[in-house]
Amino acid sequence: MKINEKGHMTVGGCDCVELRERFGTPLYVFDEEKIRAMMGLYRETLAEYGEGKVYYASKAFSCKAIYAIAKQEKIGADVVSGGELYTALSAGFPAEDICMHGNNKLPREIEEAVESGVGRIVVDSLSEAELIEEAAKARGKVQKVLLRINPGVEAHTHAYVQTATPDSKFGFSVADGSAKEAAKRLLELKHLRLTGFHYHIGSQIFEKESFAVAAEKALAFAAEMKRAFGFETEELNAGGGFGIWYAEGDPALGEEDYRAFLRALFGAVTAGCGRYGLKKPRLMIEPGRSVGAEAGVTLYTVGAIREIRGVRKYLAVDGGMFDNPRFCLYRSKYTAVLANRAGEKPEELVSVAGKCCESGDLIGVDMNLPKANRGDLLAVLSTGAYNYSMASNYNRNAVPPVVFVKNGEARLVVKGQTYEDIARNDLLPEDL
Ligand SMILES: *Cc1c(COP(=O)(O)O)cnc(C)c1O
Repeated sequence: MKINEKGHMTVGGCDCVELRERFGTPLYVFDEEKIRAMMGLYRETLAEYGEGKVYYASKAFSCKAIYAIAKQEKIGADVVSGGELYTALSAGFPAEDICMHGNNKLPREIEEAVESGVGRIVVDSLSEAELIEEAAKARGKVQKVLLRINPGVEAHTHAYVQTATPDSKFGFSVADGSAKEAAKRLLELKHLRLTGFHYHIGSQIFEKESFAVAAEKALAFAAEMKRAFGFETEELNAGGGFGIWYAEGDPALGEEDYRAFLRALFGAVTAGCGRYGLKKPRLMIEPGRSVGAEAGVTLYTVGAIREIRGVRKYLAVDGGMFDNPRFCLYRSKYTAVLANRAGEKPEELVSVAGKCCESGDLIGVDMNLPKANRGDLLAVLSTGAYNYSMASNYNRNAVPPVVFVKNGEARLVVKGQTYEDIARNDLLPEDL
């Protein structure tokens, strides 16, 4: 955390107190250089492997500006819905550099993806493969697809965000033979071109061995597909999942740690290809959380303070589960600081509550802060991923604006909602 001479926390050279004066709270603030640095780090490190491509998993934080930045940083983007696809395309993001995901892509979303010419669709069910085939055939196209497999690797992370355990709604299981059957079917479909395999073993992963073990399993499967069908995988997409720092207890990772994740992955790919006699595939990765999480801070104004003697003290802020539902969903930990008194020593443990009518609406419990008063500015760190993208209008609260800061300048990239925005689609039938 950076602090200026006034004792105020700064982000990207901007004083957080001044950001509040200009944009109000709650406010999502992103350090643009940090986002660019992570995108560049992944791109450059992957280049050490050989041919590869980074796709930013945009479900972590999606808005036009981030797609524009990804394009400038020469990386691709993953989308998981028609809405994300639309946002990317309307920001001028090249369709060829988009990879479309989803465990239940709607027929309409498949049509939109094929029509716009997305570079890859990751197939996650056989019924969906038939829909892609039809959509491509109707347009006289051949759609490149990857097959999502579940290699059965359990990454060490929170159970709710794991996706590659044997019981998962994502991917065809390698263990029970369904991945092989699916590969066979994809190779039969004339308007699909299977380029390789995709897997994603979870999120918030810190053990680099997980990436190596998963790659090894995926290559064993690729070798089996070569033996069974003479199919040589051209591409391997290893997903995302690289961990980030939220709070005390999490490892604070530096550039070298992220490089080490990738080197563990591509070291295993290179070694596995040698062992199985496979050509080195084009390697893809899909980092989401780690691209923007630590670049993001949410600013709130402290309001009501309630001390329940002998139990706990609650600081209520002007945001809550409508701008950050992650405590409600996963009991996620965060770190908070008083941004207007950032130089002061923490002296008490408090719980930070949101303003929604839900007892569970908390941002964090037992956060260590200086004694706060109504009007203080609270900054919650590492909120750049899965916060804005999971925001809602619960209690008809407005989704806050997003600003990007860089070199002491702040630029609005998403306007805050107004009451009119919230009620925009409401209709009053005549008899009401
Ligand atoms: C969520 C997801 C990612 C990104 O995961 P992070 O943990 O945010 O890096 C990548 N690929 C797929 C398929 C995903 O579902």
